[in-house]
Amino acid sequence: MVYQIDANTCVGCGACAGNCPVSAIKENGDKYEIDTKLCQGCGACEPTCPVSAISKQ
Ligand code: SF4
Ligand code: SF4
Repeated sequence: MVYQIDANTCVGCGACAGNCPVSAIKENGDKYEIDTKLCQGCGACEPTCPVSAISKQ
């Protein structure tokens, strides 16, 4: 179970990235992405997103 960021919704604020304990969230252009190989599925990032772009996959 991993989490993903919807690139169409993400506004690139970066709020999620600092809350990931394994640094799985990286900047990619003007958006952020979750590296699904690193994501542990903890869910810590999900409530930090102001536009609800993060969801469980
Ligand atoms: S679910 Fe947890 S491990 Fe995965 S990206 Fe979010 S904060 Fe990081
Ligand atoms: S908190 Fe949400 S809007 Fe901000 S960079 Fe992360 S996914 Fe994108």
